[in-house]
Amino acid sequence: MKIICIGRNYVDHAKELNNPIPKEPVFFMKPDTALIQSRNPFIYPSFSNDIHHEVEIVVKINKIGKHIEERFAHKYYEEITVGVDFTARDVQQQCKEKGLPWEKAKAFDGSAPTGKFVNISEFNDINNLIFSLQINGETKQQGNTKDMLFNINQIIAYVSQFVTLKIGDYIFTGTPAGVGAVKIGDKIECFIEDKKLLSFNVK
Ligand code: MG
Repeated sequence: MKIICIGRNYVDHAKELNNPIPKEPVFFMKPDTALIQSRNPFIYPSFSNDIHHEVEIVVKINKIGKHIEERFAHKYYEEITVGVDFTARDVQQQCKEKGLPWEKAKAFDGSAPTGKFVNISEFNDINNLIFSLQINGETKQQGNTKDMLFNINQIIAYVSQFVTLKIGDYIFTGTPAGVGAVKIGDKIECFIEDKKLLSFNVK
């Protein structure tokens, strides 16, 4: 499986990093080695001193597809959860300054802890969902999917022009404002509405 991540999909987050507002979705990928199996800790990597959390809604693809039209995109998923797109912000800054790809900063082992998937029928409207991240019980990030620049169906339509989506692929749909550093010893908990779907420690 592969993990596709959308960047700069919330205006308030693009602004906090002084990035331009994109006119079309920005995406990159993480390998399956970025996943963290349930309840295992996130191991703070030795190559960075500034690992940031980015809480994001994650969609699981349930059907193979290429060139999917936006109006049919809803047929390609039925479960979502919340995940963390961990980012080595210091390494990413160096990559950006040199105009290099971001993989070192984004695709490293354990950089994609992902929660328990929930059927979308459990939510009233996936385009109006509050999701959040707490560190040691304190809310650090909270967003609403209605603020996405590109919604889930638009993302699927766009990405599938370039990359075939396969059963079991994940799409991380971008983070709202409030990204920040984590440190060893932190307990991270992530929610959609009041459902806690992901919990792990930083070691
Ligand atoms: Mg992200």
